Amino acid sequence: MGLNQSKNIKPKMLEELLQITGFSAQEIFEWYQDFHKEYPQNHLTVREFKKLYANFFPSGDSNRFAEHVFRTFDLNNDGTIDFREFMCAISVTSSGRMEQKLRMAFNIYDVDGDGYITRQEMLEIFNAMYKMLGNSIRLDDDVSTPEKRTEKVFRQMDRNMDGKLTLDEFIDGVKQDPSILRLLNVF
Ligand code: CA
Ligand code: CA
Repeated sequence: MGLNQSKNIKPKMLEELLQITGFSAQEIFEWYQDFHKEYPQNHLTVREFKKLYANFFPSGDSNRFAEHVFRTFDLNNDGTIDFREFMCAISVTSSGRMEQKLRMAFNIYDVDGDGYITRQEMLEIFNAMYKMLGNSIRLDDDVSTPEKRTEKVFRQMDRNMDGKLTLDEFIDGVKQDPSILRLLNVF
């Protein structure tokens, strides 16, 4: 990774992003200009990512939540979000199909990436989320703490009651109770 990386997107990457994201070449090109201007190294570090979240959620502590989202966006696990990973994330969160969004949400909750969400993992994410939101939202009594919210989600989603959620259970659960989506929409 030198400093003299091209200011223009490489044709191969452009072609790939056209296929994956559904954005037009013009849109991708504009994103690339902005991204390159903001991050001349052509990637985002976790520190920079946390700064972005801190701007969006000034009333709480978003550090931990930002770390979990960063882990999810950093597809090749190299500790940075490059332009390709950035565009994949943008396309799913902004214009992706519901199924893609849910898969991404699932990956945030599946902290160790083993394909199941345990209570402990969900609790960790809700803890991070509640810290981030601070006192900025009013919560109903049955979800007023991360523990209560975790229990509620498991009551609704854990069909076979084995204490962990599969992707199928997660997707079905959200379809039956779209209000759960609201709390997923913070990335
Ligand atoms: Ca990466
Ligand atoms: Ca897991």
